[in-house]
Amino acid sequence: METRPVPPASRFSDYLAPSQVVYDLKSKDKVEAIEELLDVLAKQKLIDNKKLLLTRIIDRENLVSTAIGCGVALPHARVDAGGGIAVAAGRSERGIDFDAHDGQKVHLIILVVWNPSLPGLFNHLFAGLARFLIRPENRGRILAAKDRAELYDILSKIEFRFVHEEKIVSRARLLKKLQELELKKKRKGTKDQQKELQKQAAMIREELDRDLLSRFDRLMERYGFAVADAVDGVCQGCNINISTQMDSAMEDSNDIYVCENCGKYLVSARKKKK
Ligand SMILES: [Zn+2]
Repeated sequence: METRPVPPASRFSDYLAPSQVVYDLKSKDKVEAIEELLDVLAKQKLIDNKKLLLTRIIDRENLVSTAIGCGVALPHARVDAGGGIAVAAGRSERGIDFDAHDGQKVHLIILVVWNPSLPGLFNHLFAGLARFLIRPENRGRILAAKDRAELYDILSKIEFRFVHEEKIVSRARLLKKLQELELKKKRKGTKDQQKELQKQAAMIREELDRDLLSRFDRLMERYGFAVADAVDGVCQGCNINISTQMDSAMEDSNDIYVCENCGKYLVSARKKKK
């Protein structure tokens, strides 16, 4: 199992074989489902440390859910698992609770384990998968697939474009969690607590873009916070209305927006249950 360089463009079939696809997951909950997919990878000898991976993926999951909304989750870990990248995909007819921000059960789980020696690769995969899965017609086809072969056929054709300085689908909730951790770090705590906060912050930082992080750090330094909630069309950082256009684009999106007035990163607040 050797590490291969990131090609300029590729398809999901470069990473996913039919044997890495589960047509209907047996698992009923999140942890079981992640384990079921790791078993698939272990059976294919794509990973050699399932226990460690399970712990790492669950730790990451508990930090911020990897459910991206609309019934899709992308659990992942950046760990040297003995190879470059290992991917497994599972579909769940009944749906699995993944603590998604939109409250929807997850019907497609794509688990990704990638080697730390491949910087950027996960972000490209994540962006490509999100771009494909954001379209309702694509999700519909996945759910309607009648067997594993058809499911594989749909997934294998997903394209990844490794264009220049990445236009990555950023993850606003991850940035918000990072702010929470950075603020906690400033408060007094025991050495162990500080160490744990540091570990969690590092886990998030390694997933985010460098430009995004440097802007985040500058805002934190200057204002003490960098991310503001957008509630009912109003930026909570400056109390100014957000343009209607941006507000509707933000709804149910996990992209990162910047307040045109105060420059803070905006996160659409969880919608109140009606
Ligand atoms: Zn603002």
